Amino acid sequence: MASFILDAAILFLYALNGTISISASAWYVAAGVGWTAIALILSELHFNDRFRDHYLTVPQSLGSIGIELLAIYFIPEVGFYFACIIFVVLGFGALRMSARQTGVVWAYAAIGLTTVFTLTNQRIAMPMDSYADRHLALLCFVTALGRCAFTGLYGASLREALYRRGNELKLAHAKIEELAQVDELTGVLNRRYVMRALNDEMARAQRAGTPCSLAIIDIDFFKRINDSYGHPTGDEVLRGFALMLVRNMRSIDRIGRYGGEEFLVVMPDAAKDQAVLVMDRLRQIISEQHWDSVSDDLRVTLSAGIAQVRPNDAPEDTLARADAALYKAKDAGRNRVAVG
Ligand code: GH3
Ligand code: MG
Ligand code: MG
Repeated sequence: MASFILDAAILFLYALNGTISISASAWYVAAGVGWTAIALILSELHFNDRFRDHYLTVPQSLGSIGIELLAIYFIPEVGFYFACIIFVVLGFGALRMSARQTGVVWAYAAIGLTTVFTLTNQRIAMPMDSYADRHLALLCFVTALGRCAFTGLYGASLREALYRRGNELKLAHAKIEELAQVDELTGVLNRRYVMRALNDEMARAQRAGTPCSLAIIDIDFFKRINDSYGHPTGDEVLRGFALMLVRNMRSIDRIGRYGGEEFLVVMPDAAKDQAVLVMDRLRQIISEQHWDSVSDDLRVTLSAGIAQVRPNDAPEDTLARADAALYKAKDAGRNRVAVG
């Protein structure tokens, strides 16, 4: 629309200069504004929403180029100016069209130009005879050039928007990925992911011949905590417990919630003696922890069963030994660590 109004102003100057007739310039403006208005009305009515070519770029480009071709034919005195505008229309349209659509619009423009250039006798020109003519021609080309620059900038802003959207998508994807991995209540890995970590770490240790241990940790008498203080307090204890696990393990250890108040810890590069030391230290820290923020007289202890991965173990084998060790620790009175 703005482009047609700019054309109108230039053509009006040409008409004042006597190069073309006022009626010719009026005709061009009416056609241009009319065509753009139709496109705008269709867009307001959401008519274009039905099409894959959302902006109706192909019909818009074809219509605009058609008007320019007619203008070259009917106002040949400044025909080269309209040819220039075809560049702008095709360049702008190509930003929103597929390669095939652009090819179709280009072919249409080429056929149209061939028709007016070779099948008619119109003297397509750009007057250069007078001082005013030269200035008007300059104005034509400089404003057309400005529109080319605007088209380029518009393309750059589209690319920028795409880049930003790509980044947002990447972030959203990472967030979804993270949410899929963590246990909602405690923030450690969920069972599915800690089992995956166990498989990965075991395979790596068995391949490399390095030690790897795992521990199943179970909070002692957790049911009593729930019964005495309520389920929400139980949840709070689970959260605090998980936080202490994370704080007291190495960053390479993989920690996950295995069940209700049971956690699984995979310790790469740790033989069982080392794992026992780590778990016993953790057991002590937990048993000495004050849970004032939850309740003054609350004490929490844990029991842990440890097993070291053997060369031909499947994950279930190591888990079964750790589980058996956990039962031993519970049987022996709880608040202790046992090895399977
Ligand atoms: P033990 O020393 O033998 O492990 O005794 P325990 O009471 O800890 O064992 P038990 O398996 O009998 O009880 C576990 C309790 O954990 C039962 C269940 O209500 C509670 N629990 C499981 N998941 C959650 C949870 O997400 N939040 C809360 N608050 N409690 C949970
Ligand atoms: Mg349990
Ligand atoms: Mg328990």
